[in-house]
Amino acid sequence: MTIEEPRDAATDERDDAITARATLFVGATQVVTCEGPARARRGGEMADAGIRRGVSVAVAGGRIAAVGDQSVLERTYPGAEVVECGGRVLAPGWVDSHTHAIFGRPRADEQELRAAGVDYLEIARRGGGIHASVRDLRERSDDALHALALGRLRRLAAYGTTTVEIKSGYGLTVEDELRTLAVIRRLAATLPMRLVPTWLGAHEIPLEARATPAARNRYVQMLVHEMLPRVAAGGLARFADVFCEPGVFTLDETRTILTAARAAGLLLKLHADELAPGGGAELAASLGATSADHLGAVTAAGIAALAGSGTVATLLPGTMLFLGRRTQAPARELIEAGAAIALATDFNPGTSPTPNLPLVLTLGVSQLRLSVAEAVIAATVNGAAALGLAEAIGQIAPGFSADLALYDVEDVRELPYWYGDRRCVGSWVRGKPCSQFDLAIT
Ligand SMILES: [Zn+2]
Repeated sequence: MTIEEPRDAATDERDDAITARATLFVGATQVVTCEGPARARRGGEMADAGIRRGVSVAVAGGRIAAVGDQSVLERTYPGAEVVECGGRVLAPGWVDSHTHAIFGRPRADEQELRAAGVDYLEIARRGGGIHASVRDLRERSDDALHALALGRLRRLAAYGTTTVEIKSGYGLTVEDELRTLAVIRRLAATLPMRLVPTWLGAHEIPLEARATPAARNRYVQMLVHEMLPRVAAGGLARFADVFCEPGVFTLDETRTILTAARAAGLLLKLHADELAPGGGAELAASLGATSADHLGAVTAAGIAALAGSGTVATLLPGTMLFLGRRTQAPARELIEAGAAIALATDFNPGTSPTPNLPLVLTLGVSQLRLSVAEAVIAATVNGAAALGLAEAIGQIAPGFSADLALYDVEDVRELPYWYGDRRCVGSWVRGKPCSQFDLAIT
């Protein structure tokens, strides 16, 4: 479909045209509503996922119309299509707010190298890492990138994900970054999922710009003065993101790029404090970024800055697991300080090639020590907030987009429990089927 903006008249009209007939979802053991304020849930607010038993859900015009007693809804919406949930769990579709889903070949070779003790920098020195994906993407046609991403995004959808943020960042030239964003736009028109594009021209300093400080500076200036204006003029991205990390982009470079992006009308994200503390979280908060992502090495000052700001802390525990790290982001400290946490896959070819968001919930509970409700809120309401969409998606409550997923479990706690398993049997975006398996619809 298209990039979702907060509700407006045009969206209402389009959604009304999509679904003239109402749909009732009946017979779920639990409806995980996540109902509450249409904004990021912070601290203790994350402890309640709004689980209701014995209720049905009415969808009309692509939106949630009502949640309540089945017989009442049947009288209110006579002739509605009925989806029999069959004693399973109905939840908001997952919002995967951090992926790098446009890439060429998988980098399976690097996993064994890491196991053998070859570290990230040495892999990069051998021509692997992000630079390998950059070389690969530059050689592929738009059609090839589109076809690869289409299959991969359908895999994300198969786990119940209905909204996916996708970053550019494997092009690192004006032409290759713009065509990556154009591929995302084309995917959004092809797939029923909701896609949110992010410009990440500052993913890495490309090899051709690393020889001298002057060449590096020219790359940063090119991002600000050539690439960004083209991205903004084409309306190709909702967010700008920078990999702010010691050894990648400095705090000053990050501030320069994101300040320009904000002035150009883009919302902001940062890859911050992933492996080493560098002040990224504090910078994200001071710039009013929508999210600061990774935070594996965030400091106490960074935690305080995020807790005192509107910036969502997006945690990516799958990445730390896949890299074989023993540490994880300090989720409990962030929640106890009053920050808002989101969970995402970081789906990418180098450090987190999983399409499985429920598996990330498992890691949220077992590695980050979140409750199930906190993990669910982190992947719905707070994922939506991390995309500036908390007013439109992430809740099963009247007025929200009917982005839903049905799971073959009787209790929401089984979602992180059956870890790695695919329990999603169907999903819907704006009330229309997105991913469907063995579901009986009458
Ligand atoms: Zn990332």
